[in-house]
Amino acid sequence: MVQKSNTKECPSCAMDIDPKAEFCPICEYHFPKRNPVYQWIAILLAILMLMLMLF
Ligand SMILES: [Zn+2]
Repeated sequence: MVQKSNTKECPSCAMDIDPKAEFCPICEYHFPKRNPVYQWIAILLAILMLMLMLF
């Protein structure tokens, strides 16, 4: 059988797990994922700075 590398290694316990998993089922390590919320916060902060500059 040909084993495809359909897994990712957990940096915490070094186990091969589902690459789509948001956290490791063995040690419950949470994988950091790109969160678009941070981009919105950055945009809102930029707008706030502009508001402060204007008023
Ligand atoms: Zn783990």
